[in-house]
Amino acid sequence: MTEQIISRDPMTDDVVATVPAMTAAEVDAAVEVARSAADWWRGLGHTGRRARLIAWRRRMAGDADELVDLLHRENGKPRADAALELLLSLEHITWTAANARSVLRTECRRPGVLTLNFGASVDRVPMGVVGVIGPWNYPLYTPNGSVATALAAGNVVVLKPSEHTPAVARWYVDAFAAANPDAPPGVLTLVTGGPETGAALCRARIDKLAFTGSTATGRKVMATCAETPIPVVLELGGKDAAIVAADADLGAAADAIAFGAMGNAGQTCVGIERVYVERAVRDRFLVELGRALQGVRPGNGPTDSYGPMTMRGQIDVVHRHVTAAVDGGARFVVGGVGSIGERTIAPIVVLDPPHSSVAVQEETFGPTLTVTTVESVDEAVRLANDVRYGLAGSVFARRRRAVAIARRLDTGQVSVNSVLGFAAVPSLPLGGRGDSGFGRIHGPEGLREFTRPRAIAVQRFPIPGVPLLRLRRPAWLVRALPRIIRLLHG
Ligand code: NAD
Repeated sequence: MTEQIISRDPMTDDVVATVPAMTAAEVDAAVEVARSAADWWRGLGHTGRRARLIAWRRRMAGDADELVDLLHRENGKPRADAALELLLSLEHITWTAANARSVLRTECRRPGVLTLNFGASVDRVPMGVVGVIGPWNYPLYTPNGSVATALAAGNVVVLKPSEHTPAVARWYVDAFAAANPDAPPGVLTLVTGGPETGAALCRARIDKLAFTGSTATGRKVMATCAETPIPVVLELGGKDAAIVAADADLGAAADAIAFGAMGNAGQTCVGIERVYVERAVRDRFLVELGRALQGVRPGNGPTDSYGPMTMRGQIDVVHRHVTAAVDGGARFVVGGVGSIGERTIAPIVVLDPPHSSVAVQEETFGPTLTVTTVESVDEAVRLANDVRYGLAGSVFARRRRAVAIARRLDTGQVSVNSVLGFAAVPSLPLGGRGDSGFGRIHGPEGLREFTRPRAIAVQRFPIPGVPLLRLRRPAWLVRALPRIIRLLHG
């Protein structure tokens, strides 16, 4: 009998869904069904695909209450946060459906002096079958960034969601089929299971793999995909920093950072985990941060600020990181070890941990924040960049200066006088560097990520007497070649 996976409400342990842990043979079969639908989906062209993506979006918007409730129960986040996650996901579907045609249109290129008789162009061709492996922290928004973009680019998709949140993914995939009854099976397919099922998808006959999850798993996924080899896009962990300069609006910065750090119980890849604040305003910033966090509390009631830790194991990581920070000389300025409960963690802020501490160097993925005092913005930039991750960051300062500081951060994206702003703008790409991965989803860069270029050179007419691309060339042309080289490149 097939092994089953049970997903549970992280606050109550109530069963939310039971799904099969699919075997490699089942994953292979799903990929074959997907492949059989690829020509149909590709043949629809951008207009046909756009209509179907919009039908899907409308279906999800129409049944939003049901999906929001499922997100709340399976992941633990408050309903308002679940609704925001759905809204942003629908924004991305809308943008990618509307813009795929213009972003992926055939581009004409200049042929150059030597090949003036050629017409040159580049098509963007769908990869074929794209495998998507997703995490549990944003079980809708995160895989959707790859799924919707890959579909709009003309690919069919096989989605393997996290084993902790399969019901949300099942709902999302079923909504596509319900909204598009004319589509053959396989345009968007769900495969469920844990790491083995994910590894089986990497080994199946797919053409590209988009992975979102931890850095440790990303390394394994890349190694498995190298066996075939299959190209990968890796969206991995982060350790995002916010820089608060002396000329920042400290109240606004504290409000934004409180949300960026504690929202979703800190389980956000692009959440704020570190703050670097100039000494001149450090104490005033801490007062504002304390105010912003006053009354902020976890739970699953309608007035609670954020939910429980979705995975119990993460609570130990948070405990280890804050303890290491304090053992290294930091002090608690909000909360303490007592804030760490069995299922929930109340906000914790530690001041001035050592730069080498795991609390500063490793992804904590909980409602915690380190605040480090710096003497200058230069020091803040240097410390912010001195981690192995490079996902995102934020800068708080007067606008022009803030943009200049943002350009010095070695990350895939930066928000200025805000947190997470880039994730809400559907035309912006999302992705990292270093241990945060590579490749991009969302926006034009995301659409291109799920296609391959095909170059076409059309000889419009032969240049009489100058047969460069022939076996037999006249002697004068052979003699002239060195002169042509010097003329063009000397
Ligand atoms: P995870 O790495 O534990 O699991 C992610 C997915 O990989 C799951 O579906 C899992 O079943 C699958 N998997 C596990 N082992 C596998 C293997 N050997 N081969 C193939 N698949 C395998 O991550 P998680 O705990 O679900 O998610 C949290 C992590 O995701 C955090 O590090 C967070 O920062 C990161 N994340 C990154 C982004 C981004 O855009 N960069 C977005 C969301 C989350």
